[in-house]
Amino acid sequence: MSRSSIETVGVRYTGWAALNRDPLEDWVEYTCPHCGTQGHKAARRPRSEYHFTDGFVQDLQGEMSVCRNCRQSLHLSPIVLVHDRDEQRRFSAVFEANLDVSKN
Ligand SMILES: [Zn+2]
Repeated sequence: MSRSSIETVGVRYTGWAALNRDPLEDWVEYTCPHCGTQGHKAARRPRSEYHFTDGFVQDLQGEMSVCRNCRQSLHLSPIVLVHDRDEQRRFSAVFEANLDVSKN
């Protein structure tokens, strides 16, 4: 399978994880794998498209975005729904390896 865009993990905070944020701001957050710039986009897909997979509620189809810094197109997949401290911790543990790649 070949894509012209690069896949990276997106995270969509909800519930506790989004308590101190305007509820109208429903973002998918991500880190560009090319340049390490953090970005976010408005979440487009309804939560009914998210399914429980591998211990997380995820949207495996994902969404497209473009890095505002290097202009590379990104495929955010999976997008993981994080709604509490426990999920935040598990998300960090599972996806840290992926997210750390861009920092080197
Ligand atoms: Zn970038």
